[in-house]
Amino acid sequence: MTGRLSVARTLDRCTVLGPGTRAVVWVQGCPLRCRGCVAAETLPFEGGTTRTVAGLADWLCALDGIEGVTLSGGEPFSQAGALAALLDAVRARRPDFGAMAYSGFRYEALRRGGPDRRALLDRLDLLVDGPYVAARHGSLRWRGSANQRLVPLTDRYARALAEPDTTAGIELSVDPDGAVSWAGVPPAPGFREGLEDQLAARGFVLRTEARRER
Ligand code: SF4
Repeated sequence: MTGRLSVARTLDRCTVLGPGTRAVVWVQGCPLRCRGCVAAETLPFEGGTTRTVAGLADWLCALDGIEGVTLSGGEPFSQAGALAALLDAVRARRPDFGAMAYSGFRYEALRRGGPDRRALLDRLDLLVDGPYVAARHGSLRWRGSANQRLVPLTDRYARALAEPDTTAGIELSVDPDGAVSWAGVPPAPGFREGLEDQLAARGFVLRTEARRER
């Protein structure tokens, strides 16, 4: 397992990418190219910000009022070893820390994918699997298209998973410098393009690059 991660962005509080209130780590780089992907800036493996596992663990452990973290991207399983190490480092100090991840690969393929991928699966409570398929876009909870599955890997989120399967919505935040960022899974295709147009018309900029934690 490695001690560094290439990170596209982080968010310290989010209520629309998994159960409860969670931090989010978007990793940089994805080998897939789903048509209509809303995170195009996270796809190249070049770019992003190099972060140490220890530094990210310190950040997560210092956050109050969150029950876990969501690992998104990009493709988290392209950096599976370091993310598994991150969860171990956090749980050494916060044993009850929840973990959820997205992947463009199906669970069964990840299970066959090597020791680092299995190590990350073994540390997750919930996986959202499969590529985004624009033709199957729906108003679904925590995922964009109907082929994507919510795969419980522990019973931690059993109660949340029994709730209605409908969109959790989008969260917008505005930084002091006027840059706007968003999180969540759009309930309809074309959300991002429409948002960018509306923000530009009002003089706002959509922030997509990494932001250092405060
Ligand atoms: S797997 Fe996810 S990040 Fe990668 S191209 Fe598909 S939707 Fe985008």
